[in-house]
Amino acid sequence: MYLYNSATHKKEEFKTHTPGHVEMYTCGPTVYHFAHIGNLRSYIMEDVLEKYLRFVGYDVNRVMNITDVGHLTSDADEGEDKMLKGAKREKKTVMEIAQFYTDAFFADCAKLNIKTPDVVQPATGLIDDYIHIVSSLIEKGFAYVAGGNVYFDTSKLQRYYIFNDHNEEDLAVGVREGVEEDTNKRNKNDFVLWFTKSKFEDQALKWDSPWGVGYPGWHIECSGISMKFNGEYLDLHCGGIDNAFPHHTNEIAQSESYLGHTWCPHWFHVLHLNTNDGKMSKSKGEFLTVSLLEEKGYDPMAYRFFCLQSHYRKGLVFSWENLDNATVAYNKLLAKIAALNPAGEVDAAAADELKAKFTKAMDNDLNTSMGVTVLYDVLKAKTNDATKCHVIGEIDGVLGLKLLEKAAELREKQAKLAAQPAVFTVVSEDGEENAQVEALIRQRADAKKAKNFTEADRIRDELKAQGIEITDVAGGAKWKRV
Ligand code: AMP
Ligand code: ZN
Repeated sequence: MYLYNSATHKKEEFKTHTPGHVEMYTCGPTVYHFAHIGNLRSYIMEDVLEKYLRFVGYDVNRVMNITDVGHLTSDADEGEDKMLKGAKREKKTVMEIAQFYTDAFFADCAKLNIKTPDVVQPATGLIDDYIHIVSSLIEKGFAYVAGGNVYFDTSKLQRYYIFNDHNEEDLAVGVREGVEEDTNKRNKNDFVLWFTKSKFEDQALKWDSPWGVGYPGWHIECSGISMKFNGEYLDLHCGGIDNAFPHHTNEIAQSESYLGHTWCPHWFHVLHLNTNDGKMSKSKGEFLTVSLLEEKGYDPMAYRFFCLQSHYRKGLVFSWENLDNATVAYNKLLAKIAALNPAGEVDAAAADELKAKFTKAMDNDLNTSMGVTVLYDVLKAKTNDATKCHVIGEIDGVLGLKLLEKAAELREKQAKLAAQPAVFTVVSEDGEENAQVEALIRQRADAKKAKNFTEADRIRDELKAQGIEITDVAGGAKWKRV
């Protein structure tokens, strides 16, 4: 499989430390608010990646953190603690906020058919591990204490900027105006490993440490959690593109300085979902959530389909019109699958050939839009329905569009509808009850349904002769005496 690697800036053959086994890490959500559908684009694509790795035979151990402490409003250690901000907004405790939005996140994931990682670890649960790593970094000369905080000394690294050639000005990005520069830092791009004195006053969560009571920086949690559950050799690290700098850059700096060897050779970054008027943001007030899509009548699966129609390394623009188009295409696809008869014998050779088309698309840097196209190739293929259904099921094990399940539901609905006698209502416009007239009108409707128009006209004339006029309406007929 060839996968683009942000660390080397090229598409590379994906290799793992232990053949056949993938240690995979994903930066999880900061649980101070609902996830927006942009965040969920990243999780959908990472879910497809994990499922595809399993599809091609890897055994995968996937780990994810839940950021419930240490993430400030600016990724560069400035501003307020996001969790504290959320707690103030809702007049709840930080832990209440964390629990509520963690549950909300996994509920959204379930609606989008995103598998829960093998290990999910809230950042607050591994404080001793971070303290151990930070102590070791100080011992090795990679970190220093200043103004009560512990900082990573980036000048000790031969190479700090792994993903892009940032200049120091970039560090100011995201720092809100009026926020003071941290004068404790020896170098502009040094970052906090452990906070005590600064940002301390109303911090709700704090722990004892060799440097005083405080709390960990944001970056150290991902290194600590990954090293604990993925081991010293991570194969694949994932996140949205905004995580590349400074978050992932700092994760690499501290993990490799601590371990003394390369930590993770392969980095997978998903580009952002944006709206036409700019970046998707949680701080803007009303923002796009899965619940909002549902309130507006959209199936979350149509959003997943929308995401899969484009490549993860391209920015994606969200609009209601784009989602409408995806919904139409998704429903049409379901209708085509529902028209197949899944019973029968699978032609193994034909199935393998179709599956090979899918792996060819996905092996090329997880090309999900081509992967989706293969579904249409399967529908058009010269093989029996059972084989088509089998292949669609296998492919959908990766794409996660609930195709067979939803097609079966649709098939059932269609069958029920066909079995139900159509309700034909007859009413008199003057409120007259007349069983005889009604019976004749029903006979006429049956005749029309059976395409016996001569009989239908005969009945109409017969009623006309009695001074009765019929008007056809949707779902029935009305009549009156004239
Ligand atoms: P957060 O909850 O802010 O820590 O972000 C969770 C994940 O969503 C991270 O992997 C981010 O990189 C990613 N992310 C943030 N904004 C977007 C966006 N607009 N489109 C895609 N992914 C995003
Ligand atoms: Zn992370």
